[in-house]
Amino acid sequence: MSCQLRRFSAILLLSAFALYGFASAQEQSDSLFTVHVVQRGENLFRIALQYNLFAEQVAAANGITDSNSIVVGQRLIIPLVTAGLDQRLTHIVAAGETLASIAAAYSKSEAELISLNNLASADAIYIGQELVIVAGAAEPEVTPIESQPTATAERSDSLPVTAPSPGGGARHSFSRGGATVDTFVHTVRSGDNLFEIGLRYGMTVEALVSANNLLDPGLLNVGQKLIIPGIQLPRLARDLPVIVDSFTIDPLVLETGRSARIELLTKEPTSLSGQFLDQDLRVITREEGKRHNILLGIPMFTDKGVYPLTLELQVSGGGSSETIAANLQVIGGGYGYQTITINDSELLTPAVEENEINLLVEHTSNFTAERSWNNSLSLPAAAAMNAVFGTLRSYNGSDYDRYHRGVDFAGAPGTSVLAAAAGRVTLVDRLHIRGNTTVIDHGWGIFTLYAHQQDTLVQPGDLVTSGQVIGTIGSTGRSTGPHLHWELWLNGVNVDPMQWVQEIFP
Ligand SMILES: [Zn+2]
Repeated sequence: MSCQLRRFSAILLLSAFALYGFASAQEQSDSLFTVHVVQRGENLFRIALQYNLFAEQVAAANGITDSNSIVVGQRLIIPLVTAGLDQRLTHIVAAGETLASIAAAYSKSEAELISLNNLASADAIYIGQELVIVAGAAEPEVTPIESQPTATAERSDSLPVTAPSPGGGARHSFSRGGATVDTFVHTVRSGDNLFEIGLRYGMTVEALVSANNLLDPGLLNVGQKLIIPGIQLPRLARDLPVIVDSFTIDPLVLETGRSARIELLTKEPTSLSGQFLDQDLRVITREEGKRHNILLGIPMFTDKGVYPLTLELQVSGGGSSETIAANLQVIGGGYGYQTITINDSELLTPAVEENEINLLVEHTSNFTAERSWNNSLSLPAAAAMNAVFGTLRSYNGSDYDRYHRGVDFAGAPGTSVLAAAAGRVTLVDRLHIRGNTTVIDHGWGIFTLYAHQQDTLVQPGDLVTSGQVIGTIGSTGRSTGPHLHWELWLNGVNVDPMQWVQEIFP
């Protein structure tokens, strides 16, 4: 038993490390779990038994040190990673999934799933289909409601509730990746505290304490899973028009200051338009009108909440018109805070900063339909990064209404500044704050900006290649020492450039 427990802890620890630093949407989708609401008369041992687990496993998943401390109404995370094999497990096929990807997600073979589900072939699956992943024990034919054990998969009030388990916790229906995930769970990282987690999801500490029934709000363990009530994940597999072959949003939960991509594949040539956050979306349509891509930049100070995404499809040649609507959740990006005290004489009037920002917003709102980058961006200098994007800043006690709009690289004066991707130079200028600045247009609404340079080596209109030397590191403009300040703008929205180095776009 202790061996099993150790293995389970190792899995939790492993997933905590694997997810560190990535979007929280990935955190919740990487774990298989359900939620059990403690009923009168239950204890940890009995609850664990219902899910074919050991009490220690349930305790570990919930950070419970005293097994007598559970109370009626408490929500317990029930890990299914190590769940017994007589537990039936199903998966709802989402837009964009293949049998191969589903099989891989559950460490199964395609052949196993074909056989379990009596499929004609791997291509025979459809969006919304419930696939059996683990057959489980035979379910009772008739189970009177009154005699049911009290295990039900339940979520926070605002979310739809899974069908009560007919066999007393023997049947769990959920899926991961692109489709439905019943409960949003935050995995505690090193350095997390309830206040910061609450800020990130727009919740109070009290709400987190009550949703998770935490006895000691000051005590969080790395890897501990916290239920975040009220987070709504889009259910993409539902109600898609027949014309749509696949619909993907990545990540499913959006973060302020970061980018997301939407892809829609249609069976027929179609024109697509859409709106999100009160903006008309820019749609890139390729492959004879059948592949549509949208890149979203979420402005830093977007209020946390749920926003509607609307897409209108018009099939070419006078075909049908359809609408797709999905609610997307925007959460905070988990940025740090910084208080800066400087001499009054160094304080810029807000108008100076505002003017420069307005110029850049306008400049980067231009749109080139052809893109010149591939997959991801490369780093703009062979130098150590010494400041991340997004840190919220207060100057001389002001509100935290400004933030670090780029990433800094510490490099000796004269160190080469490199184009992060191929593109066309659209601006070379000496700006008040950013000093000698170069902007490159990479197409599809993506621009990179290089600030505080000593020398600039390109002219507006020049075509540059990825890694080409475009200038040298300096300390021009409002700068405290030689460094490269590197920004990324997407359709006039300033977002974290490192996401574009670490991930593949679109
Ligand atoms: Zn900077």
